[in-house]
Amino acid sequence: MIRVGIMGGSFDPVHSGHLCIAKEAAEQLGLDEVLFIPANRSYNKDPGENTQPEERLDMLRLAVEGDPFFRVCTAEIERGGTTYTVDTLREFKETWGKDRELVFILGADSFLTLEKWREPEELFRLCRFAVVSRPGFDDDGLEERIIKAEEKYDTVIYRFSSPGLDISSTDIRKRISDGRSFRYFMPEGVWKYITDNDLYGFRPEFYPEAAVYIEKLERELKPSRFRHTLGVAGEARKLARVYSEDPHKAYTAGLLHDCAKNFDREKTFELCRRYGVELDEVLKAQPDLIHSFLGAETARAEYGVKDGDILNAIKYHTTGHGGGMSRLEMIIYLSDMIEPNRAYFKGLDKIRKLAYYDLESAMEEALEQTISFNREKGRLIHPLSSGAYSYFKELNRRKPIEQRKDFTGSKSGS
Ligand code: ATP
Ligand code: MG
Repeated sequence: MIRVGIMGGSFDPVHSGHLCIAKEAAEQLGLDEVLFIPANRSYNKDPGENTQPEERLDMLRLAVEGDPFFRVCTAEIERGGTTYTVDTLREFKETWGKDRELVFILGADSFLTLEKWREPEELFRLCRFAVVSRPGFDDDGLEERIIKAEEKYDTVIYRFSSPGLDISSTDIRKRISDGRSFRYFMPEGVWKYITDNDLYGFRPEFYPEAAVYIEKLERELKPSRFRHTLGVAGEARKLARVYSEDPHKAYTAGLLHDCAKNFDREKTFELCRRYGVELDEVLKAQPDLIHSFLGAETARAEYGVKDGDILNAIKYHTTGHGGGMSRLEMIIYLSDMIEPNRAYFKGLDKIRKLAYYDLESAMEEALEQTISFNREKGRLIHPLSSGAYSYFKELNRRKPIEQRKDFTGSKSGS
């Protein structure tokens, strides 16, 4: 007979406590597999406060990835409404009949609430329970309660042991919203999912490196520049998610893109000499363009950034370049233009929409706007910008017609 372990819970989020007891139960009780079944809505918890069922499901899938004994079951989410375990077990019995023994795994805290669940007698008829003690919960009298239940429901209740992990989803949610660390309480993939999607009030500035950058930038930049910087970082992070780029890298590049912007003229030239930033004729004539090139060197030297893609995104965020910009470079270039604090200019809305639709078309549009704006002002156009504009124009022109997008989302035939 196949023995199937069942881990029910809200998994909001799943953590190592859940995974460890599931593994221990499987080993000690000889389970052939363990099904993790996220509740759609637990009968005893406030609905909708934290995450969507789909998000809890995604996290569980990431958590069990690579473990051949663990599976995720969507039965309760698919059924919708308030979740009652008895309904789930009935469904299983209908499907599997007597072929499988169902072993429902419970922490002591949950076991002690069992009599409040819907139809406890039926529950004991449909499955066997396996109980493990849970640190942080008083389990005085647990053994007596187990024996009593065994007598009352004429069943055997399994006991198994686990090295106690005093971890709960409630505590993790609190840690996240307080900005404390929670990284090692769960598999890496779940941690990344939470941070990438800002779940549970996670704020990106909680990253240890980001917090250091932000503190330094706040000291060095003018308040309006600092606000713009946070706007660019946030926008870049959003775009990164849309285009499957690393959101942390995008956030870092966004934070540091203007790190050399508020240096005075003297310091700018002195640092260019020190870091070997070469000044061509256009940069000499328009020193406000220097901050991007110097910014990359400053990010490297003063902020300890080593990642070449981040440094290039900073370096080319004002001019762009025609050598095939990386996605991160485009994301930073565009975020700088479209971040929410950006003062309105004609064409901003179009670039904003395009940026979330097709980076390359957005680049063409953004460069065209920038070049004509600067021409009107009588400024020199940096050859890197003209090169970038021709590059994107040509690239977009060559795209198959169905890939060419205009900002309304319809296909552009011209
Ligand atoms: P919350 O704090 O939101 O109630 P939780 O951490 O208790 O979350 P649940 O999803 O409620 O997690 O729990 C699912 C099952 O896992 C329950 O049976 C619970 O007793 C058990 N469990 C959770 N964490 C642990 C742990 N650290 N040790 C032992 N059992 C645990
Ligand atoms: Mg709980």
